[in-house]
Amino acid sequence: MAFNLPSINLPKIRNCSRCGKIFTAMHGEKICRDCVEKEKAFEEQVVKYIRDNPGSTLKEVMAATGANEKMLNRMMQDGIFSNAAVDKPKDATYPCMSCGRPITSGTYCMDCLSRLRDQTKRAAERMQIRIKEDKKMSTIERLDALAQKEFERESRMSGIKRNFSKGMFKNN
Ligand SMILES: [Zn+2]
Ligand SMILES: [Zn+2]
Repeated sequence: MAFNLPSINLPKIRNCSRCGKIFTAMHGEKICRDCVEKEKAFEEQVVKYIRDNPGSTLKEVMAATGANEKMLNRMMQDGIFSNAAVDKPKDATYPCMSCGRPITSGTYCMDCLSRLRDQTKRAAERMQIRIKEDKKMSTIERLDALAQKEFERESRMSGIKRNFSKGMFKNN
């Protein structure tokens, strides 16, 4: 097998394949830094459109943003957005587990996710305080307290599940 790494690593003077400007390619780039910046801004527009219009088809994304299919495919390959977010029928959205807002991926919408993260953080902080207090408790007392906590968590979860299934069957 032949290795041609040296030719890739050497800085090269070349014309930007996008705007034609002469630039120094440090790592085999084909387009100049200005065009990279422009492309990044364009990609951000596309990502924003997909985020604001969940369940859009690739055609709709192209029509709304001016991006072409090649660019969208490359962005998906690079993991800039998930192909799960596009090219699905609009009714492929499902409700957020917490607030019922339509989402296209994951379990919770972005708002609920950040709220849940805050709650988890605060709960973890409270647990730290509890653990300090727990040292005064006997093992049996500690187990009881843990079971009580687990029971509370379970009832909360089944409450959420009940609300979730109510939302799911609303349309039937
Ligand atoms: Zn350029
Ligand atoms: Zn939500």
